[in-house]
Amino acid sequence: MDVRDGFIVGIFNYCDGWCQACAFTSRCRVCADIAEMEASLDPNLKPIVDAPVLPQEEPPPPPRWLQELLDDMNTAAAECQKEEGASEAWPRRQVLPGHERLETRANSYSVSVHAWLRTHDGFARSSDCHDPRAVIGWFHMLIPAKVARALRGLADDDPAGRTWPADHDGSAKVALVGIERSHAAWLQHVSDQVVTGGHVQDFVRELAWMRDEIDRIFPTARAFVRPGFDEPEEMAKLLAAEGV
Ligand code: SF4
Repeated sequence: MDVRDGFIVGIFNYCDGWCQACAFTSRCRVCADIAEMEASLDPNLKPIVDAPVLPQEEPPPPPRWLQELLDDMNTAAAECQKEEGASEAWPRRQVLPGHERLETRANSYSVSVHAWLRTHDGFARSSDCHDPRAVIGWFHMLIPAKVARALRGLADDDPAGRTWPADHDGSAKVALVGIERSHAAWLQHVSDQVVTGGHVQDFVRELAWMRDEIDRIFPTARAFVRPGFDEPEEMAKLLAAEGV
């Protein structure tokens, strides 16, 4: 786990995006940036946000080699864009043959649950992260997005060309987390007799199918270590070092 300026590097790449329910808000650069942006829009906080940076808080200038490297990368990226035609849309990556069904069914689950939620008032309104209704509501949108990212990442993967864990495994793991939490939330409602009926059974069945399919396509996803989230010992050491 890398920590820079108090933030866990890359933690936001493999989270579920539910900041309201996240234990790592104070360690997340994205969360800090969002808070700063919101503060800048608040007239009461604007003077604080706009206050000049104190000399001791100024970051040091980048070393010359780093600046040169960044300039080279910017030039190469600009050239590349020119060659491909800047106005052309970024080509959508493909999914490997045999994997389309997972993407289709993840999308279909999302659309069906969305329609169902619109006809079940209390479900759509709940945002309490401990409420199974909110869990279902949050993850039905996240699951297809993470599934698509994982499948397209896998299709583009070149294991010989990387030395770091596969990014698609991280996305697949987040999809699995969402699927399993949603599955448990639906079953909770059934056992509490809050909901009954064929639709719910279909949702539960679809989630179980997607879970098994992700385990099959991404057999190493569960072993992926998400920065912060899957590193309790590292976190304990960090907190101890900071005297928290
Ligand atoms: S890591 Fe937590 S705080 Fe940061 S974006 Fe993800 S959910 Fe939000």
